[in-house]
Amino acid sequence: MSVYLDFNASAPIDSRVLDYMVDVYKTCFGNADSRTHEFGTTARRIVENARSSFAELLGIKKEEVFFTSGATESNNIALQGLMSYALESNRKHIITTSIEHKAVLETVKHLASEGFEVDFIDPDPTGRISAEKIKRLIRKDTLLVSVMHVNNETGVIQPVQEIGEFLSDTDVFFHIDATQSFGKLVTELKNIHYDMLSMSAHKMGGPQGIGALVLIKKHFRLPPVKGIMYGGKQEHGIRPGTIPVALVAGLGKACEYVAQEHEDNIAKCIELRKCVIELLEKSRLPYEINGNIEYIIPNTLNLCIPGVSSEALMLSSKQFCGISNGSACNSSSYEPSYVLKAMGLSNDRIENSIRISWGASTNQDELTVALKYMLNMAKSMIE
Ligand code: PMP
Repeated sequence: MSVYLDFNASAPIDSRVLDYMVDVYKTCFGNADSRTHEFGTTARRIVENARSSFAELLGIKKEEVFFTSGATESNNIALQGLMSYALESNRKHIITTSIEHKAVLETVKHLASEGFEVDFIDPDPTGRISAEKIKRLIRKDTLLVSVMHVNNETGVIQPVQEIGEFLSDTDVFFHIDATQSFGKLVTELKNIHYDMLSMSAHKMGGPQGIGALVLIKKHFRLPPVKGIMYGGKQEHGIRPGTIPVALVAGLGKACEYVAQEHEDNIAKCIELRKCVIELLEKSRLPYEINGNIEYIIPNTLNLCIPGVSSEALMLSSKQFCGISNGSACNSSSYEPSYVLKAMGLSNDRIENSIRISWGASTNQDELTVALKYMLNMAKSMIE
């Protein structure tokens, strides 16, 4: 059986979360916005409990949480939703990075086509963005800075704490895409100053198809974000459409488990990382880690094995493990990773790089067997 090592693309749902969701699907089929019967009231209670669990995990207020279909939608609402405010206030300058997920990059490109001016910051060769560079680019008409917390391809943690601290004294909105850190860097996220945060449940033990946009109140007012779809008034119009009660319930339950277990989970991920590095060392294969290990989240390793094409290695190792060479959203194309490219890595290095990502539920013995096979396969490709 093949071992799943692509948690950054999507992590398996926690079976306790799934059990709870099945129960909600079976027993609570009402519409959370129906006011005329108990079925609606019960659904609303479940949704609001989930909102509380979510808010508690981040240390924010319940009314700052808006459920969406996931991080792609949250990113789109956060960025496009500020458009009318930008036009009214004549602030049309945006700063972001060249290593954001496509859900941010394509959205800001669209905004650029509508007359916004966008600065894209490149990371240094270790995969990190410089907070200083961002500070220097702030202008009078800067509307928004959008920086991801953890890069999905390299796992590199970005200096969002520092950027947020600096921006908290300004009127520039700060959006963080926390899709890869939510539920993992729990304490860190509680201490970051941001105005908007995006996440998807399926990266942290919850179901696919649900996520949230967080809008933090400043002087009792939410950021002036408008919904980008017309429809009902659900989620205060930020995200119209019937609330998927069981999915929201699953996200809330995943937050509850993560609140109790995140320290153990991170410790397990650190152990697994040690194990992966030991296996690499023992294999005597040459390898280079993409990104500075000091800043890499412990569930991800993006590494290059010189002389071993990642495409060939992934395909020939399919029966042992499921790994990738970048974002699943781009994996149907053979384009070299734009993230590694932005770090200034050579084409050869990019072509020979793979991403391995795991979670606390990954079985160490199974991982060991799978990676030994994979590394032997890599060796045979060099010899
Ligand atoms: N941002 C980041 C950093 C991601 O890793 C992903 C998922 N790969 C997304 C946004 C988009 O998430 P979803 O596909 O669940 O909308």
